[in-house]
Amino acid sequence: MELVISGLSKTYANGVKALDNVSLTIPTGMFGLLGPNGAGKSTLMRILATLQEADSGRAMLGDIDVLKQQQEVRKVLGYLPQEFGVYPRVSAYEMLDHIALLKGVVNSRERKELVEALLNRVNLWEHRNRRIAGFSGGMKQRFGIAQSLIGEPKLIIVDEPTAGLDPGERNRFYNLLTEIGENVVVILSTHIVQDVLELCGNMAIINKGVLLFAGAPNDALASMRGKVWEKAISKHELEQYANSHALISNKLVAGRPIIHVLSAGDPGNGFVSTEPSLEDVFFGAIHANQAHVAG
Ligand code: ADP
Repeated sequence: MELVISGLSKTYANGVKALDNVSLTIPTGMFGLLGPNGAGKSTLMRILATLQEADSGRAMLGDIDVLKQQQEVRKVLGYLPQEFGVYPRVSAYEMLDHIALLKGVVNSRERKELVEALLNRVNLWEHRNRRIAGFSGGMKQRFGIAQSLIGEPKLIIVDEPTAGLDPGERNRFYNLLTEIGENVVVILSTHIVQDVLELCGNMAIINKGVLLFAGAPNDALASMRGKVWEKAISKHELEQYANSHALISNKLVAGRPIIHVLSAGDPGNGFVSTEPSLEDVFFGAIHANQAHVAG
C-alpha cells in the first residue's frame, strides 16, 4: 500500500499558504518529512490524519480517499501528535484499555492481551500503573506509539517526535519506530536532519508549503557531491561571504565559523571540497528555493 498525494493546497484564513500544490508518493516504510519550522509539515500531517480539511487536491491511501472517507482513514490510522496537550491523570494501563475500547476492541480478554502486549512492546510494562502525567518525555512518546498501534494501523503519522527527548530516550524511541514494520506507511515529520538520516529510506523536503525534494536521502546526497565547499573564516567575514557566495550553512567549530557554500566549480580563495551532508541537502534546497522566490 502506498499513499499518493496530488496537488494538495491549503491557505489559512489569515492568507498564509501552508501547502502549495504538494504532490508526493509515499511508499511503505519510514518516510521523513523534513522542513524548517513553519514549512507546513503539521498542516500536511493534520490533513492526512483527517483533523483538518485541504482546500484542494487529493490523497489516496491504497483505495481509501483520505480527504473524503474520513471514517475509513481513522480505522487504519495511528497518529502521534507533537503534544497530547493535557496528559491524563490515569495510569498507562487504564488509558490504553480505554483507547482500545474506543477503537472497537470490545472483547475484554482480547483487550487485556492487546494492552499487555503493547505495554511490553514499548517497554512500559513496569510503569503500567503509574499516571501518564508523571512520565518523562521519552516515556510519554513511547506511550504515544503504543496508543497509535492499537488497531493495526496502515498509516502512522508521527509529528516532531524527538523534540525534548534526551539522547537515550531518543534512541529507544528510534528503535521502537524501526520495529513497527515494513508494511506500514510511517511518516515522520521533523526539522531534525539526523532523525531522517538514521531512520528513513525515503524523504521529502518542504519549505513554505512547497515540495523541494522527494526521494532517497542517498540520492539527495549523490546529487550534491562535488558541489559543496567548505572554509574556516573569521566572524566579521561572514556577511561578506553570505553576499558573494551561495552560503548554505554556517557552523561554529571551536568558536570559529566554518561555512559551506554551494558551487558547481572550485570557488578558489581557500575553499576545499567537502562530502555533502544531509544538512547541506536541506539548507541547499531551501537556499535555492529562497533565491528563486527572491529572484
Ligand atoms: P510546521 O509544522 O512545518 O512548523 P505548520 O503547518 O504548523 O508548519 O505551519 C505552516 C504555516 O501555516 C506557518 O506559517 C504557520 O504560522 C501557519 N499556520 C499554521 N496553523 C495556522 C492556523 N491555524 N491559522 C493560521 N496560520 C496557521
